[in-house]
Amino acid sequence: MRQVKIGDITIDAVIEREGPWRRPEVFFPMFDQAKWDSHLASLEPEVFDAALGMLVMTYQTFVVRTPKHTILVDTCTGEDKGHPAPFDFPGKERWRNELFALGVSFEQIDYVFCTHLHIDHTGWNTTLKDGRWVPTFPNAKYIFHKKEYAAWEAEHKKGNNPPGTVFRDNCLPIVEAGQALLVDDDYQLDDTITLTPTPGHSPHHCCVNIFSRGQKAIVTGDMMHHPIQCRETSWCIGADWNMEQSTASRRSFLASVADTPTLIMPIHFAAPTVGLVTSDGPDRFNYRFKRD
Ligand SMILES: [Zn+2]
Repeated sequence: MRQVKIGDITIDAVIEREGPWRRPEVFFPMFDQAKWDSHLASLEPEVFDAALGMLVMTYQTFVVRTPKHTILVDTCTGEDKGHPAPFDFPGKERWRNELFALGVSFEQIDYVFCTHLHIDHTGWNTTLKDGRWVPTFPNAKYIFHKKEYAAWEAEHKKGNNPPGTVFRDNCLPIVEAGQALLVDDDYQLDDTITLTPTPGHSPHHCCVNIFSRGQKAIVTGDMMHHPIQCRETSWCIGADWNMEQSTASRRSFLASVADTPTLIMPIHFAAPTVGLVTSDGPDRFNYRFKRD
């Protein structure tokens, strides 16, 4: 993704992994071959590897630099976590190298937003040091939705997977270190960042709205994983917490941004990632990369 400019703010992508990932018929429990075939020509060419029959997906963090703050949104899977496949992919130093190449050090990060507290959005929150998980960004406040945190804390106490080790290793150490801000729906950072609740993929998933000088971008986390979900808004993924809610959130969100200049930044959409939503029917939308 090329650098995005929103008024006085810049947004860059730092990538952990990209490329062909999963087969659509496996990734989407509601997959229907005829529907897929009917939409394929309307999808951007970068988002499907026809030769391999696989979706193309990215795991990335957005680095948001405002005149006052350096902010990360979502932190991929991280290092040394011991996750089983498919989240054990190698070469994670790419993420750190791309961050440093932007001229950003761990110490310079002021805030870390997590759209939700899943395995691939909280990984770099912590680093293993002398056998303990400690906050990777020593001067940052980490912003978690209060109810999202509480929901995963409860699942963790029940011994459920998810969250598996994710709550214990990526989230709890941040609270214990006193670096967490547990916030409500109405949280606002300066006049530049607000949240929009989009529950469903996780209990209290939030999109992160970024404003400057009348322009707007929205990091949509995992509200959708692939542009086919703009064409078929009811196509959830197997990992969704509540599929009915996930569909409802997707439909109302897409309707609210369709045919507007709001830039959409979904974490898992393949490069060039950032795009615009258009509407072409009831509950039917299209995703167009912003290429200029
Ligand atoms: Zn994800």
